[in-house]
Amino acid sequence: MEYLKKAPKTAATGERDVRDKVQSILDEIEAGGDDVARAYTMKFDGYDGEIIASAETRAASAGKVSQKLKDDIRYARDNVRRFAEAQRASLKDTEYEIIPGLIAGQKQIPVLAAGCYAPGGRYSHVASAIMTVTTAKVAGVKHVSACSPPKPGEGMHPAILYALDVCGADTILNLGGVQGIAAMTFGLFGTPRARVLAGPGNQFVAEAKRILFGRVGIDMFAGPTESMVIADATADAKIVAADLVGQAEHGYNSPVWLISTDRTLAEQVLDIVPRMIDDLPELNKENAAKAWQDYGEVMVCDDRDEAVRVSDEYASEHLQVQAADLDWWLASLNNYGSLFLGEETTVAYGDKVSGPNHVLPTKGAAHYTGGLSVGKFIKTVTWQKSTREANRDIGQACARISRLEGMEGHARTADVRLAKYFPTEVFD
Ligand code: NAD
Repeated sequence: MEYLKKAPKTAATGERDVRDKVQSILDEIEAGGDDVARAYTMKFDGYDGEIIASAETRAASAGKVSQKLKDDIRYARDNVRRFAEAQRASLKDTEYEIIPGLIAGQKQIPVLAAGCYAPGGRYSHVASAIMTVTTAKVAGVKHVSACSPPKPGEGMHPAILYALDVCGADTILNLGGVQGIAAMTFGLFGTPRARVLAGPGNQFVAEAKRILFGRVGIDMFAGPTESMVIADATADAKIVAADLVGQAEHGYNSPVWLISTDRTLAEQVLDIVPRMIDDLPELNKENAAKAWQDYGEVMVCDDRDEAVRVSDEYASEHLQVQAADLDWWLASLNNYGSLFLGEETTVAYGDKVSGPNHVLPTKGAAHYTGGLSVGKFIKTVTWQKSTREANRDIGQACARISRLEGMEGHARTADVRLAKYFPTEVFD
């Protein structure tokens, strides 16, 4: 593999400072409750209005969103719901007879309450509202709280509020950042304490979730969005470049990577990307230019097997393949958050409307996990029951292993049963 452009930076920088800061905000909010959360909302977002969106505010948000956009939000919600329902159907309660008389099973039980974060600092992430709340509701979570950063004097973006509402959020909080995560986790402002937190966010949001993990479940640790395109000689350089630029606009530290098995294609993309970035609106241009300069990479691989090895090592959050023989790529690639096969689909479709979730693992987490799915809101728990007859073998084996371990109390829980169920028998 040869780099035509290598990134001077990696995505992991300055995390210790962020951790200390977030920890101290969490400590203060836990000790001080609603008032401290409110004070941080004023400090970071300049907002001192209603925290829990009332029924009137929810209804009013619908009036501020155009009919076309409302239709689009419901269209996206329905696609996300359909995919989540298919995921839910694949999670089944099961039952097995392990040995005669010993039955054990698994049950799928949704968590009682979840907290969903819809980012709203730099962009208004309506799609994140749809992805998280819809999925939690399909999973069967009874109470879904959701929050998003407010704007001074206004509250959260009306389209985000509308999306949270139509996707079924039970409580909606005008809170962003650490204070939003804290409120849902600690059960502030009267909302039930979340048992699982889901949704993307900036470094402060991600760090808050990481620190709180353990006392609350989290979907994953999500860093800045990242995207990889694998392209061969059949790819269209302009479309490949547009896809890289489209993802680079997420933020100044959002990596985008190209792996090509064709040097000419790679050189063409390298030439087009800066011109496309230059053509973006000002804020988007600034983000994309920095992301491309500091984190963008272009690699040329000898063949598709090498491309798979390199891609699997990066384990990109989003992975697009614009190459011949898509079935081969689907069968061969192992590490990615979500895969987009062929020129006719793109990350932006998945980000906004197509159905599979856009909350995905970053920074190599795709080596060990997929993205948000109904399963993240559901516990797979086990149960067992045994006949008296089955106690003969289980009880003896249990007592012997327990005694070997030095756990006499455990052994006696077996002994007492064996003595009761088989009073005429002698066991060693
Ligand atoms: P955000 O909502 O995550 O963060 C805004 C909040 O950050 C504010 O409410 C404020 O409270 C807090 N904040 C800002 N400056 C702070 C400071 N100095 N100290 C403490 N708190 C501070 O919105 P954002 O900043 O635009 O970030 C959104 C992130 O979500 C981006 O990194 C984007 O890439 C990511 N994202 C990821 C996915 C995914 O699926 N992985 C999807 C959408 C967005």
